Amino acid sequence: MSDAVAAAEQMAPDASRAGTRLWRGALKSPLMLVGMAGTLVIVAAAVFAPMLAPYDPTSQNLASILVPPIWHPDGTVEHVLGTDGLGRDVASRLLFGARNSLFVAGAAMLVGSSLGLITGLVAGFFGGRTDAIVMRLGDVQLAFPFILLAIAVLGVLPDRHPVHLILVLGIPGWIIYARVVRSRVLAEREKDYVEAARAVGAGSWRRLFRYVLPSVWQVVPVIALLDIGFLIIMESTLNFLGLGLQPPASTWGGILAEGRRNMVVSPWLPVLPGLAIMVTVLSINLFGDGLAALFDPRLRRGGMRRIIPPSPSARAAMAAPSPREEVAEPVTSDGDAGSLLRIRDLHVEFPVEDGTVHAVRGIDLDIRPGETLGVVGESGSGKSVTASAIIQLLDPPGRVTSGSILLDGEDLVRATNRRMRGLRGRDIGMIFQNPAASLNPVLTIGFQMREAIRHVTGGSASAAATLARQVLVDVGIPDPDRISRQYPFELSGGMNQRVMIAMALAVKPRLLLADEPTTALDTTTQAQILRSLADLTDEQDISLLLITHDVALIAEYADTILVLYAGEVCEYGPVDQVIADPRHPYTRALLESVPRIDSANEQLETIPGELPDPRATRTGCPFAARCSEVMDVCRDEVAPPFPIAPGHVAACHLWSPKHVGEASP
Ligand code: SF4
Repeated sequence: MSDAVAAAEQMAPDASRAGTRLWRGALKSPLMLVGMAGTLVIVAAAVFAPMLAPYDPTSQNLASILVPPIWHPDGTVEHVLGTDGLGRDVASRLLFGARNSLFVAGAAMLVGSSLGLITGLVAGFFGGRTDAIVMRLGDVQLAFPFILLAIAVLGVLPDRHPVHLILVLGIPGWIIYARVVRSRVLAEREKDYVEAARAVGAGSWRRLFRYVLPSVWQVVPVIALLDIGFLIIMESTLNFLGLGLQPPASTWGGILAEGRRNMVVSPWLPVLPGLAIMVTVLSINLFGDGLAALFDPRLRRGGMRRIIPPSPSARAAMAAPSPREEVAEPVTSDGDAGSLLRIRDLHVEFPVEDGTVHAVRGIDLDIRPGETLGVVGESGSGKSVTASAIIQLLDPPGRVTSGSILLDGEDLVRATNRRMRGLRGRDIGMIFQNPAASLNPVLTIGFQMREAIRHVTGGSASAAATLARQVLVDVGIPDPDRISRQYPFELSGGMNQRVMIAMALAVKPRLLLADEPTTALDTTTQAQILRSLADLTDEQDISLLLITHDVALIAEYADTILVLYAGEVCEYGPVDQVIADPRHPYTRALLESVPRIDSANEQLETIPGELPDPRATRTGCPFAARCSEVMDVCRDEVAPPFPIAPGHVAACHLWSPKHVGEASP
């Protein structure tokens, strides 16, 4: 309940701006202005029908039947639109008809849209069996012609009330909303900003309603307005067939049916309600299209909506129960007194159709408080998977199959989902690779920062706003108030990444995972951002795990380096020592491929060959096929980490005591 109140408070400023935005948008779009004006006139006519109608719409005057409208030579000012076959005033009946039609269509739309929004959100977000059941129900319903269903139900009712029409028209509409909302949710739930919300500890329902819902709800008003047009036509059709509201209620369909009986002598009688229906539907549709462009900032800027289908593996994993829920208590050990994070023999696997991808194979690492560990390696070396395993955000169906990840002695591998939600954001922060995709495109920067801070700290909105402003200044944003009011797509990549860093650092996590935080940025911005990140983590004594494929960045910003290849550790040690005297052939090859400004060689060195098949079982060194120093033993025996110097190891047979001994004179 408190969350709902908080959400209302947070949305209040946006809601107050919505009216201004609506007027500005209408003034810029003539078609939307026409649609909005037409809709308002029709709604006003329906609401004020009792005051506007000159006669009682049911009052009959048989002495004055089929009076033509005022523009006819025989027309009179008493009956501007003439009278029908029972002498009832057509203008009054049309006004009350608008009232009945809009009420029934509007209420039916609310029923259908509410059902559809909820089912679409749940089906799309949770997927699996829930999704399958919802979609099959929808398929079954769509197999029945809607109008036949309505006729069958209404035809057997002895008395028909508005509520009958509302339910018959409204309930079948849910599937239209549900399908569209579900498809938007499927696209949104895969995006980095939803993962980022998970990284700050947001649970499923919170992610659904606070992060996904704001990005998908915009489709509902548009469909709803279009749906109202459709429902008005359906309501009129049922009334035309005599299955709607019972006489003497005025309905456009009923007036049309009565007019059709007298159309030979009074051809205008069926035309007038037909025009009313057509103008109403057209106005509502124009208004709906205008709203669609107005309230989706990406459409407003002329951007294209990107629909990303969910991966089959993700869908399959959503259907599977999470084994992590079965673990009741966190498991702790004494750990290493000097390490904040200690990983031992970590294995991560991804089951695929034709086998198992062994993404991480027995990694060991330690990070002390305040230390920056740089993790480097080619794509596919297991860098990002290791980070995802630490924060327990592996893409399904990936899972840690063995090993331990100790954060201050607590084993994260065996921690419950509830425990991990508590640790994410507060103790472990994460900065993702693509800042634009990691931020919700339809929420302002300020809202997202306040939301993330409040979720972790539980403080007031004003305290979160003050902290958000401060951390934006800390990361070098000169005008934090202006940036807070902007949307992510209005900022540069560098500015978005500064926002992400500010968001991660705002709550001072003990461990920060930065997964290629500057890959998409130019060199100057990259240097500025990494300098800010290094300074801030130093000041706040935050341990940093910096993932990159650029060994030059590691050399400049890290204390320790971990070189990964094909999911295995090649070399690990103090960065100065490893860079100055690399012992593993792969580390050497990586360093030789770094462009040097003082090098006379115009062609960059590359490492020939490819990574080994990640599904294959290893019998020897994974780098053997690409190594210029390969020996027989390399293909048959896995090289354990051999000590080179205190804190420096290399997993290469070149440094085994046996080989060193043999090579010695
Ligand atoms: S173990 Fe053998 S193949 Fe592997 S890096 Fe060392 S020398 Fe090369």
